[in-house]
Amino acid sequence: MLEGKEKRNSCFIGIGSNLGDPLSNCLDAIENVASLEQITLTKQSSLYKTEPVGFRDQDWFINGVIEVKTAYSPRTLLETFKVIEYEMGRKEGERWGPRVIDLDILFYGQEIIDEEGLVVPHPELHKRRFILVPLNEIAPYVIHPVFGISVQGLLGRLEDTSEVVPLDLGEYRDRILT
Ligand code: ADP
Ligand code: MG
Repeated sequence: MLEGKEKRNSCFIGIGSNLGDPLSNCLDAIENVASLEQITLTKQSSLYKTEPVGFRDQDWFINGVIEVKTAYSPRTLLETFKVIEYEMGRKEGERWGPRVIDLDILFYGQEIIDEEGLVVPHPELHKRRFILVPLNEIAPYVIHPVFGISVQGLLGRLEDTSEVVPLDLGEYRDRILT
């Protein structure tokens, strides 16, 4: 198989959880993604405790962002993430509400995709502090291909004022890449 030698695209992935042990869930999800043969973990943001946005009557989230390099297509990457979410115990109908784990494709290189069940860049990315703060940590100069504005620029223009607080990782510190 030549697959591993194909062009590997740089992708940014959003990670979130607010059910069970959310910090451990996020770290497990990152390990599960990184353990896949076709995916290489290249960057990892800090993790943050974040105020719920939208449906506000639920526990705070833990959020972070990673960069991976992969030869998987966007669709295969999405399907792979759905399997990880399912295997980690995520149930149907957790949209907006509490969830064990959420893996979102934020950027897939500079590709713009608008298909049934797959929109990239992620359509909420530029509106959400809990995505832009960790993304800005590892990708401040990456350009949003739809708006032609850097992550840093989007963060500067953001109207969302919800709280995003860096976590002290304590005993989990050795599970962070950088
Ligand atoms: P959200 O992450 O928006 O809170 P879900 O995780 O429940 O909600 O996702 C619902 C659907 O969003 C998924 O079944 C998936 O097909 C679709 N989707 C569209 N674009 C993306 C993307 N870029 N990353 C992840 N899921 C996406
Ligand atoms: Mg999702």
